[in-house]
Amino acid sequence: MATKKTFEENLASVKQYRAQVAARGVKNIINGQRVDGASGKTFTTSSPIDNSIICNVAEGTAADIDLACQAAWDAFPAWAALDGKTRRDILYRYAALIEENAERISLLESLDTGQPIRFMAKAALRGAANFRFFADRAEGAQDGLTLPTNDHLNYTVRTPIGPVGVITPWNTPFMLSTWKIAPALAAGCTVVHKPAELSPVTAQILTELGLEAGLPPGVLNLVNGYGETVGKALTEHEHIKAIAFVGESYTGSLIMQQGAPTLKRVHFELGGKNPVIVFADADLDRALDAAIFMKYSLNGERCTSSSRLLVETSVYEDFTNRLAERVKKIKVGNPLDPATEVGPLIDAGHLSKVQSYVDLAVEEGATKTSGGGMPANCDAGNYINPTFVKDANPSMRIAQEEIFGPYLTAMPFETEAEALEIANGVKYGLTAYIWTKDVTRALNMAHKVEAGMVWVNSQNVRHLPAPFGGVKNSGIGRDGGDYSFDFYMETKNICIAMGEHSISKLGAD
Ligand code: NAD
Repeated sequence: MATKKTFEENLASVKQYRAQVAARGVKNIINGQRVDGASGKTFTTSSPIDNSIICNVAEGTAADIDLACQAAWDAFPAWAALDGKTRRDILYRYAALIEENAERISLLESLDTGQPIRFMAKAALRGAANFRFFADRAEGAQDGLTLPTNDHLNYTVRTPIGPVGVITPWNTPFMLSTWKIAPALAAGCTVVHKPAELSPVTAQILTELGLEAGLPPGVLNLVNGYGETVGKALTEHEHIKAIAFVGESYTGSLIMQQGAPTLKRVHFELGGKNPVIVFADADLDRALDAAIFMKYSLNGERCTSSSRLLVETSVYEDFTNRLAERVKKIKVGNPLDPATEVGPLIDAGHLSKVQSYVDLAVEEGATKTSGGGMPANCDAGNYINPTFVKDANPSMRIAQEEIFGPYLTAMPFETEAEALEIANGVKYGLTAYIWTKDVTRALNMAHKVEAGMVWVNSQNVRHLPAPFGGVKNSGIGRDGGDYSFDFYMETKNICIAMGEHSISKLGAD
């Protein structure tokens, strides 16, 4: 089960798990075999807690991608032909194994990413829930529609598209990977997974548990390495029929170009600069809790985070002052401490990017109430004080660009129309959060705001059958429920004549 232990107990457990990982390293897993990269090269992954090296990681190349894609290609016909019930049973075993290993996964994820254990404990369990959810639907995934006319019967069936590539980011890698891999396997696709080079530790566990659960060799393969080399080779490979990608918008556009010669189907979950819009009539206490949670949980390294706070002028000062006080009290520290609310950022490069936006806020003329710099209780690692900046102008870079850290930018609005204009005035469109007790206004805003997902009087609460994805530069396609199967499967229409309908006779006279 997931960890509910004390800081000291977590440190002791991590020491043991870390020693195992250091001894084994992270390797590629191709055709059921745990192997070194073809070049023999390795790189290292470090812990954001103190930037100490956790272990060596096999550095894949295009040659490894070739082997993995061939394995996925060879394994595809048999896996696709299995009946859904058999696939379901294997995925159920997979979910159970994830649960049995949830503590190890959670603690190693926390060590490798810097994400606080209070959130990561649930991430492993959510990963297991993803497998169960899609396992339950494996049997019915092929079902289509019946579309009769007077003289013909049209009906549709779905078949798995083929081997697919899954490319994931570093922020919450385990849970995000299960979100892609579970429906792909349930649909009957085989998979080559390329995890982020900055946090590869739990992807190896995920693949190994799949083999232990009974996935045949080649059904789920893992190749580690850099985006520009292995990621690129995966998106270009002729055996790969679709790419499910989670990461930055710019990388998405590269993948689209790389996949164009082989006509890849793509599904992109990209960046965001999501608004939380608070009207004066809202339950302001709940809105405050949600706005803080949606920006400062998961270190703010969260695609759905509410990074722009829009507050109606009449309550703006009071709301932002209360928020500023709360942000100053957020507990920053070692992510393995259950009391920690914000941990260290993924690496020194990302830390300096977030810090540069703290400096930029002052340059751009906004008001910084807190943030930036190393917290007093931390002496090493990629820690930064949670940042809150108010009185921003919507056109400032701090109000336009994705910062992807514990950093919230606030600005006032006078009217519903102005709130909409500000909310929609960015290139992204992933989520929006609206707080008001006025149902008419909530509906109007929800329909007009440019976002793939809107929550009204709520933080991000995920319902697995509901569609997940963004508009504009935030993504293409939807995950969740049947939407995932639509991506990983082809729909075929079959049309049968039911009688002797007319057929034009050419050349008959
Ligand atoms: P990134 O785009 O830098 O990297 C993501 C993955 O793509 C990594 O595995 C990387 O190695 C690989 N990659 C890089 N270049 C590539 C290339 N040319 N071809 C193929 N693969 C390549 O993103 P990141 O910094 O790891 O993650 C942070 C970003 O992810 C943020 O923008 C965040 O908003 C986004 N994200 C979005 C969602 C969502 O659901 N919309 C969820 C989580 C994270």
